[in-house]
Amino acid sequence: MALNIEQIRKDFPILSRKVNGKPLVYLDNAATTQKPVGVMERITRYYSEENSNVHRGVHRLSQVATEEFEEARRYIAGFIGAGKPEEIVFTRGTTESVNFIATVFQQFIGAGDEILITAMEHHSNLVPWQQLCRRQNAAMKVVPVNERGELDMESFKNLITSKTKMVAVAHVSNVLGTINPVEKITGLAHDKGVPVLVDGAQAIAHLPVDVRRTDCDFYAFSAHKAYGPMGIGVLYGKEEWLNKLSPYQFGGEMVDQVGFKETTFNVLPFKFEAGTPDVCGALAMETALKYIEKNGIENIRQHEDELLEYATRELKKLRGIKIIGEAAEKTAVLSFVAGGVHPYDLGTLVDQMGVAVRTGHHCAQPLVERFGLSGTVRASFGIYNTFEEVDIFIRAVRQALDMLR
Ligand code: PLP
Repeated sequence: MALNIEQIRKDFPILSRKVNGKPLVYLDNAATTQKPVGVMERITRYYSEENSNVHRGVHRLSQVATEEFEEARRYIAGFIGAGKPEEIVFTRGTTESVNFIATVFQQFIGAGDEILITAMEHHSNLVPWQQLCRRQNAAMKVVPVNERGELDMESFKNLITSKTKMVAVAHVSNVLGTINPVEKITGLAHDKGVPVLVDGAQAIAHLPVDVRRTDCDFYAFSAHKAYGPMGIGVLYGKEEWLNKLSPYQFGGEMVDQVGFKETTFNVLPFKFEAGTPDVCGALAMETALKYIEKNGIENIRQHEDELLEYATRELKKLRGIKIIGEAAEKTAVLSFVAGGVHPYDLGTLVDQMGVAVRTGHHCAQPLVERFGLSGTVRASFGIYNTFEEVDIFIRAVRQALDMLR
């Protein structure tokens, strides 16, 4: 079903503002998405009418906040196809979710063990594993990426060995837009008894996510990349795994009985949620995901695919443009370089024309270097972007290139 983009745009007040005297063309959705009014209203309503701490109050407001917080957890579990709400742990976002697992996994990693990641990981799904390996004297192995920006699956098969203790892979690359074959990856890893963590930061707002079908052991994402607020996200973990893991942080809420000599811990998921959670963030994330559900993730995907295809075709008509990332399966992200022009200069000039794109290594420095580059220009699409905006973007790039050359 075709989305009514004009109607959708009315839900995002920021889209009607001007930047540098020009109507804003926001193409930095991979960094963060804009927020619909419903999400902002949810935040206001929570703090105007419902604010209270959860799980420990006998009074009415606390009970309402607790019920809504747990309802948000149930909804989010359903949204990603998790079996149980207990498998949803609220975190600050993708980065904290990965750090959480890379920290508590230490108990299973010894000298000589291996962690397998890919060459297209965001620093958030690279550095925590690298540091874990350093602490434990383990080795981090890296699955290479081909020229089109696809994972080399033959290497992947060869790199999983009896020493591998974890596979960590992005669902979608934030630089290349590549959609990785996560179902196939979990199948291959599980054949060798290896768990898989999927970094879903760039997938959650663009593709249907079904953790049970994918059969991944862990799935991480941030609300702010899916029309929700900053500072909250999710770590999904299979119940069997979460039960095996030690707590990540200690404090209130995550305990059962506390004494000066001994402490016992709470049940899932509270064992992993030390301290006061971001209750309002969870409610606003639920509202954001409902916004996606209302519009239909398949409709969103189709719209973004059409924008991506159109923008790619038009961009290639400009002289000296090289697209970085031309995987057969890709979504919503368009990275490119223009011969002889520094990405930063290009990004700065198009910003003068109201077009927000991102330049640099996009927190994936080893990947960008793999392509012999220090940075790219990246346009990334969301539900509210239009073909007219793509035209403005292409015109801005053309003008900027004319000026810079
Ligand atoms: N992983 C990927 C693929 C990303 O694109 C990002 C953010 O750009 C992250 C992880 C980190 O997300 P956050 O900063 O919300 O924790």
